[in-house]
Amino acid sequence: MRIKNIQTAVIESNYDWTIVKIEADNGLVGWGEAFVAPGLTATLREFNAFLIGEDPRDVDRLCRLMRTAVGASGTAGMVYHAISGVETALWDLTGKDAGLPIYRFLGGKYRDRVRIYADCHAGSGLASLSPVLLPRTPSWAMRRKKAAARKTELATKYHGGQMSEAKEVRAHAYARRALEMKRRGFTALKFDVDVPTEFSLDDYNRALTRREIDLMVSLVAALRKALGKDVDLAIDCHWNYGVNDAIRLARACEPYDLMWLEDPIPPENTDAMRRVTAATTTPIATGENQYQRHQFRELLEREAVDILAPDFQKVGGLLEGRRIADMAEIHYLAVAPHNISGPIGTMASAHLCAAIPNFLALEWHAASVPFFDDLVAGRRAPMIEKGYIRVPEKPGLGVEFNEQAAYKYRKPGEAFFGQPA
Ligand code: MG
Repeated sequence: MRIKNIQTAVIESNYDWTIVKIEADNGLVGWGEAFVAPGLTATLREFNAFLIGEDPRDVDRLCRLMRTAVGASGTAGMVYHAISGVETALWDLTGKDAGLPIYRFLGGKYRDRVRIYADCHAGSGLASLSPVLLPRTPSWAMRRKKAAARKTELATKYHGGQMSEAKEVRAHAYARRALEMKRRGFTALKFDVDVPTEFSLDDYNRALTRREIDLMVSLVAALRKALGKDVDLAIDCHWNYGVNDAIRLARACEPYDLMWLEDPIPPENTDAMRRVTAATTTPIATGENQYQRHQFRELLEREAVDILAPDFQKVGGLLEGRRIADMAEIHYLAVAPHNISGPIGTMASAHLCAAIPNFLALEWHAASVPFFDDLVAGRRAPMIEKGYIRVPEKPGLGVEFNEQAAYKYRKPGEAFFGQPA
């Protein structure tokens, strides 16, 4: 089996879902997904120059080839998203060729079902962000409901912006969303608490006012009250705060027994993260901005984190994810993978989550995307049922990308698997 060509398509969803399609000379097709970034598909197409003619089953060696090829561009960042997308497609081909599901190549299964936690944003509906994280209205939504979409766009400022809402209204919206997701069967949820508010005095100094912390804690309290003890709760801060402010927030959240507080401070300074982690009993999670096992090594060895949140469409591939999880296991830490992918990336992550012992829960960010399940063929039921993904036993990923259904959600200006933009 030899690689014949690598093609891409981009689906405009809440994030851009960049799908990788690799055709082999024996007629098999492998699917993968790469984490959103500006300029990503051009990089992916460049890989054709040295991957065509290679045996796709030499997954690890081909990843090394890709890392070497992009070496001058650095050891992290967008080129690693591209490598991750290709790597999953290589595993899909390997599995299909051997007649085995991908998890078999990652060490085999610890569990039949993978626990999913739903990311609930700021309690509101679909917020769509461009690759440079600016709010946008997807072109398919524009076509469907021009007026309504425009209204959404105006109302949306970073994570759904609810500037003018009173504290009680906001808490009520959060609690309502939490109950809805609990009814859908989820046993773990995550909400953003770093929403813009009228209580912020400065957009740049990473400081939290007392009123901001009170507001955030009121949201956490409302969520905990709504969810009771049956549903785990995490909150996300998207790298927004300074060390002391993060510690104040984390300590204020201690009575609510969070599953974790995510990315309280910027991700680059491991010692600063260690100070936050050491100062609170609220578990601190980070990892979605780290690449390759090397960047996770520092986090783990310096005991800077309680829960590791690597993104398997970003870190360099599923096998790299397996290595990162193994390193976390040495420190007796759990892995709760970050995931903003569509169904292809989500299922790829699910195979790995089934295969690692120290798995906690896998993110799902697309609860508000109406066409999530339409993008896969070969499954009758929804991919996520009652808060779990059942790991498929079919060869490879166990799902096929539905090109026909996906076409209407394609991103303008991007090629669709070889069809010009
Ligand atoms: Mg996050």
